[in-house]
Amino acid sequence: MKPASFDYAVPRTVAEAVEALGASGRKAQVLAGGQSLILEMHLQRIRPDLVVDINRIPDLDHMSVEDGELRVGALIRHAAFERADAVPGPLGTLLSRAVVNIAHPPIRSRGTMAGSFGWAHPASEWCAIGVALDATVEVTGPAGARALAAGDYFLGPYRTARRPQELITAVRLPLLGEHTGVGFIEHRRTHFCFAQVAVAAALTVRDGVIGNARIGLVNSADRPLRARAAEQMLLGAEFGPLPTGRRLPGDHPFARAGRVAAQQDAAPVAEPYADAEYKRQAIAVLVGRTLCEAATDLRARLAAREGDHR
Ligand SMILES: Cc1cc2nc3c(=O)[nH]c(=O)nc-3n(C[C@H](O)[C@H](O)[C@H](O)COP(=O)(O)OP(=O)(O)OC[C@H]3O[C@@H](n4cnc5c(N)ncnc54)[C@H](O)[C@@H]3O)c2cc1C
Repeated sequence: MKPASFDYAVPRTVAEAVEALGASGRKAQVLAGGQSLILEMHLQRIRPDLVVDINRIPDLDHMSVEDGELRVGALIRHAAFERADAVPGPLGTLLSRAVVNIAHPPIRSRGTMAGSFGWAHPASEWCAIGVALDATVEVTGPAGARALAAGDYFLGPYRTARRPQELITAVRLPLLGEHTGVGFIEHRRTHFCFAQVAVAAALTVRDGVIGNARIGLVNSADRPLRARAAEQMLLGAEFGPLPTGRRLPGDHPFARAGRVAAQQDAAPVAEPYADAEYKRQAIAVLVGRTLCEAATDLRARLAAREGDHR
């Protein structure tokens, strides 16, 4: 199918983009990477009157570290995160482990992190990481700029607290400290499918016990989710050696956290190849495994630091 006809604007500044979006109350869409929008327009599931192409706004094409946060401008593509050292510390590792799960290289070379926040698909890897880490979404509209906490930003599938005339200018993610280990594991039908379920985890250890846990759940509800009950039950747990063997013993804190995430935090929505019960089982297993990955990552970081001090 061909898209319905639409007008096309190519602003050179954020102010021009906002003006175009607000123009005469029309149904406008922002074109960033186009990897979701163009497909939806071809299927005529989205029929904008106006497409505002932001690709020629140089101010949006920056990534920087400021005040302990990574600031990702709205034109930074997924592929920018494929190398772990593109971003300092454990955050760089987490983003690099997640990004390879987003579609395939041509899509990653065009699609943007901010576009994922604009699209707000429940199976978006970036959005679940954003919720787990308390990211901030910067938007600018006719009334000026404002910052939205990721936890308040997602309202449902493809629904957010962003007003239609507002442009996302950047997404800010807090850097993670050196006593933090990270993990990301995804389960999907084929390599190019969206996740049936995926889990992002960041564990911080202080004095031999877990002092902070962040768990993001992908496609485990009608929006990206943070597994707060599971995080809470991990606090204060001893950071001992991981058990050997393929399966976590059922009474291990990571296995218990998996069950809590599946039963208390998640609200899975059935899909053609994964009903809600299947997803709950997958969440329970993946949370346990992802926490093990985060623990292994942290041990490697601590060992490397000790090596540096010798
Ligand atoms: C085959 C295939 C597989 C995919 N697999 C995955 C996957 O596994 N995981 C995943 O997360 N994504 C996946 N995607 C989607 C891809 O990651 C997109 O890049 C992403 O969802 C949107 O980013 P974009 O920059 O392309 O946005 P666009 O397609 O340009 O825009 C998407 C929406 O966001 C809005 N928008 C974009 N930028 C802004 C902004 N700055 N301010 C306000 N609104 C904005 C637009 O108005 C539009 O409604 C897949 C896509 C395809 C085609």
